[in-house]
Parts: sequence; structure tokens; C-alpha cells
Amino acid sequence: MAFGLAGQYHLVAMQPLFYLFIGAIVIGLALLLQHERRQAARLVERSRELERLSSELLRANRMKNDFLANVSHELRTPLNAIVGFVDLLREGVYGELSPRQVKPVERIEASANHLRHLVDQILDLAKMAAGRLDVHAESFDLRPFILDVASEVESLVSEKDLALSLVMGGSIPRVRTDPTHLRQILVNLIGNAVKYTDAGSIVVKTRVLQRESALTQGLPPIVAAAQEEIESWLSIQVIDSGIGIAITDQERVFEEFEQVDSGPHADSPHRGTGLGLAISRRLARLLDGDLLVASEPGKGSAFTLWLPLTVSASQRSASSEHPAHTA
Ligand code: ADP
Repeated sequence: MAFGLAGQYHLVAMQPLFYLFIGAIVIGLALLLQHERRQAARLVERSRELERLSSELLRANRMKNDFLANVSHELRTPLNAIVGFVDLLREGVYGELSPRQVKPVERIEASANHLRHLVDQILDLAKMAAGRLDVHAESFDLRPFILDVASEVESLVSEKDLALSLVMGGSIPRVRTDPTHLRQILVNLIGNAVKYTDAGSIVVKTRVLQRESALTQGLPPIVAAAQEEIESWLSIQVIDSGIGIAITDQERVFEEFEQVDSGPHADSPHRGTGLGLAISRRLARLLDGDLLVASEPGKGSAFTLWLPLTVSASQRSASSEHPAHTA
């Protein structure tokens, strides 16, 4: 009994402590809840701020692209007029040029053409960045197309006394892609091959490869995975025996305005703008393919354009390759 009383006494004595304990827990929980609420409110505020910043960035980027597109467009008109009038001057429409005038007029023509090319490229890039460069896919025969591109660049190639050979697989099919974009990529690649090769040859090699062998030959798996239903891949390689590109520069050359140290070519009058490969890779990706390079300094470079191909079984690649044309 005495024990019972003592126990009751203890319980009574502990009650305030118990309430204190519960009270502390309740206060703790309330504080925690308040802290959590504040944190949640802060997070909402931050995510709103991020949303606002990202839409501001998008707007600024859109404005930059629009500005570039408009400026390039506006620059083209007077530039075309300069090139046109210089042409007339050179042709003697305004009277024969004196021997002293010929060189400066040629300089004006070369510079104006260079500027027009640069403006065209900036316009292309701005359109691509704004998602305003369309793809107009058509079905066409690849063989005559490549021959036509080769004849377009023939004067460039013969200026430097280089040999251009075209190698095409036995059954080059009809393709369905944008011929204007494809031509722009190929002309740029062959133009570069000529620019950065002093002696030797340039080979344009066209093949159709089944998915598995395309993957073993360098088709990026991520590109193949994005086109799961595509069984055949077109590979067009532009291979030169020129100065080559160091391994550390091989990704950099695809960035806008990047020009790697090209030795004696750095001061060449044919030196470009550093935009050609950036545009070509973007175009290749716009066509659901890709553009890659393999190169060894002093030995040459091989640029490979991969494009997805939908062809009938009868048209599929023959493994044999025949030289088709030599310019
Ligand atoms: P550019 O107009 O300067 O040629 P590109 O974007 O076409 O610009 O090329 C970027 C750089 O990549 C070039 O400045 C050059 O240094 C290098 N390059 C491109 N193609 C070749 C090639 N076939 N051989 C060696 N270097 C090349």
C-alpha cells in the first residue's frame, strides 16, 4: 500500500514534467512546420524567379537571332549592289580599267564576295538558331547529284592542281532529303578539303551501310537510336591528304567562328570565316544525321556525313565499290 501511495506520488510529481515534455514537442513540431513552410515558400519564389529568368533569356536569345537575321538580310542588298557594280567595272562597261586600277578593283571584288559569304552564313546560323530554317525533302538520284556537286567545285580543285575522285558503292539509291542543304554541306566540305590541301588528292566516297555496320564504321549510337526505324544509313566521306587537324582541335572546328591554327594557311587569302563546319554540322543534324571528323596532322582529314536512308530491299547497298568519276 505504502508502495502504491509512493507510486501515485511519483506519477503526480512527474505530470508537470510530462506536460512540459509534450509542450516542447508540440512547440518543436510547430517551429519545424513553420520552417518547412518558409522553405517551401522560398522554393516557390526561387522557381518563379528561375522561370522568369529563363523566359527572359529565351526572349533575349530570340531578339538576338531576329536582330542577326534582320541585319544580315539588310546587309545583303547593298552588298549585292557592290558585287554587281564591281562586276560591271571589271567587264569594262564603264570604260576600260587602267592597269593600275585592275588590282584594287579585284581586291574590292574579293572582299565584297567574302563579306557576302559571311553575311549569308550568319543569316543561315540565325535562321537555324531561331528554328526558321526549313527542310524541303525531295526524292532524287544521288549519283547524278554527286556528279553535279563535283562539277560545281571543279574549278576550285583545278586551281590547285589537285585530283578529285568520286567513289560510289555499286547501287547508290534514290534518297529523300533536302538537296539544297545536302549540296551546301558537300560544297563546304570539298571547299575546305581544297583549301587545306596543297598536294595530293581529294576523294568523295559514298556508301550505303546497314545499321550494324554503320555503327561499327562510326555512326554515333545516339544518332542511330534517335532513328530506330532506319535500317540503312548513307555515308558520304570527303577525304583529303592535306594538313590535318590535331586531335585536341577536332571538336572545336565545329564550333562557331572557330579556326584552328592552320600553319601557312592562316594568312591565306582563301581563309574562311570559321562558320562553314558549324553550319554544316547543324544542317546534317537538321536532316536527322550528323557530321564527324577523323584526322591526323600532316596526313589528312576525313569528314563523314551520316544521313538516314529509307530504301527498298532491292536498292540496298552492294558491298563492292567502283571508282565512278575522276575530275
Ligand atoms: P573556315 O571558313 O575557316 O574554313 P570552317 O568552319 O569551314 O571555317 O572550318 C573551321 C576550321 O577547321 C578551319 O579554319 C580549319 O582550321 C579547320 N579545317 C576545316 N576543314 C579542314 C580540312 N579539310 N583540313 C584541315 N583543317 C580543316
